[in-house]
Amino acid sequence: MHNEETFDPKIAFPDSDKGTIPEAPVRLVKPTKPGQCYTWQVIKCPYCGKEHAHGAGDDLARVNTFLGHRVQHCGDDKSSHVGYYLVPEDKAK
Ligand SMILES: [Zn+2]
Repeated sequence: MHNEETFDPKIAFPDSDKGTIPEAPVRLVKPTKPGQCYTWQVIKCPYCGKEHAHGAGDDLARVNTFLGHRVQHCGDDKSSHVGYYLVPEDKAK
């Protein structure tokens, strides 16, 4: 019996959106203290070039479900951007 909850960006964000939303390579940062969550860290933001952190939950088996389309964390000028796709750095273009 299948009981997997998988996030499919192709369903949530159809191909027609591709080409307008950039990819942001991310690496997984492990929690350093009990009770903390994993973090997907944007290595180099396609908008501002800085690092950003996005929550990835507390279960290593499910961190990939936190990838996909996210709003960028640039801190300003948010209205003019469409966010980015979080992509593991070894799979980024
Ligand atoms: Zn940014």
